Amino acid sequence: MLRTVTTAAVGLTLAAGCAPDSEAPVKVSVLSRSSNGQYVPTQVELTTIEDVVGLKGSVGDLQGGARIVIDANDPALQNATADTVAEVLLKNTGYDVKASYITQKDAKTGEDVLWPADFHSWNMVTSYYNLERANEYFRTVANVKGASFDPAPTLYYFPDFIQTQVSKEPARDNAIFYPVLQAFMVLPFDKIQRAPLPLNAAVMAHEYSHLVFNRLAYAGQNLPVSLSNWSSESPSQGANVLKSFDEGLADYHAYGATCRSVSGCDPRFMATSFDGGPYAGVTDARDLSRADRCMSALLWNRLQQQDVGTFSSDGAEYQVGTLIATALYQAGRSTGQEAQLQRDIVSAYYDTDPEKPGIYQYTQQVIGDQTLFSLAVPAAAIISHISDLELRKAVCNEFMDHLRIPREWLIGPSLCPASAAGGTTCPNIF
Ligand SMILES: [Zn+2]
Repeated sequence: MLRTVTTAAVGLTLAAGCAPDSEAPVKVSVLSRSSNGQYVPTQVELTTIEDVVGLKGSVGDLQGGARIVIDANDPALQNATADTVAEVLLKNTGYDVKASYITQKDAKTGEDVLWPADFHSWNMVTSYYNLERANEYFRTVANVKGASFDPAPTLYYFPDFIQTQVSKEPARDNAIFYPVLQAFMVLPFDKIQRAPLPLNAAVMAHEYSHLVFNRLAYAGQNLPVSLSNWSSESPSQGANVLKSFDEGLADYHAYGATCRSVSGCDPRFMATSFDGGPYAGVTDARDLSRADRCMSALLWNRLQQQDVGTFSSDGAEYQVGTLIATALYQAGRSTGQEAQLQRDIVSAYYDTDPEKPGIYQYTQQVIGDQTLFSLAVPAAAIISHISDLELRKAVCNEFMDHLRIPREWLIGPSLCPASAAGGTTCPNIF
């Protein structure tokens, strides 16, 4: 239904005389999943918005009409530094979007509610709302401090995003957090026939999770030193492990965010966007509720022995990431401590306590030798941040079983208790 709208016009003008009051809180209607799982117009309150027409506030700033080109052969890009790379990539920085609304009186309260007047306005205001919800999840469930979210990221709405190594044509059908620009991109849709990705709150929470991982586990670096140093070497186990954890934790937090929605916890959150279309396989491949996923010898060897380009060429970081996410899902469910686990995981991203270093601190310890940064290292960072012993043991057992991390790598003071014996679901691969 939503696909019939053309994707070209972004800068929509506001009819004269109805410029709405912009200051938060603002009551608007967005497209959100109801308790029966359907996307329906839903009245919500935006609590962080500063400009409801330009869709700018403390959790993000929507910009339309941008053009971003990644050309690996561009000498300017090869010579770029962390400070200049954005200038090289952003061929057009875009402009403030303009959402248009019709003001309606709420039948019960008599208050003004802004009703988006066209498809892009629905899509844009819902994008902002979904950033706000993801931000709220990380502030409340994961206890992330407000300063970690500054400066507010830009969200490039329907940009031309071209990776010349992939295609000369702008990419479609994706939502991306792009750390180099410290920005989100919501690309135009083409083959996705169901809910566009920015309407899917869980997909936006997945992308928001990448922002949080960048701000903490990469200390907010737009070109993370650990990841870029390690990616320039071959093989690149450390880079492969970092990318796998970044993806797996993003899916686990996306799931966690669904538990705060009216439609409830949804381990198959891709379904409303991907089912019935050409990407339908993604829903099953990333379904967190499947308890029978196992690390294979092939995947383990690829993680250790491939360079990051080869490893990522078929999305192996998502395969390993799904093993991580399903292991965490099982541990959280079986102990009834999902929200506590989500909080503990994020507290493991950055921690200067030498007794229990964060993921960032571990990368700094072994920055000169990435063969030391195995799957067990970020796993250990997470485990040492779980204070409840039953939950800690459950995570240990799931990591030993489904990720096949050798038991002796994880047992130790402030790590796994000696009683953690792994599990019997997955076959030995060594
Ligand atoms: Zn991702």
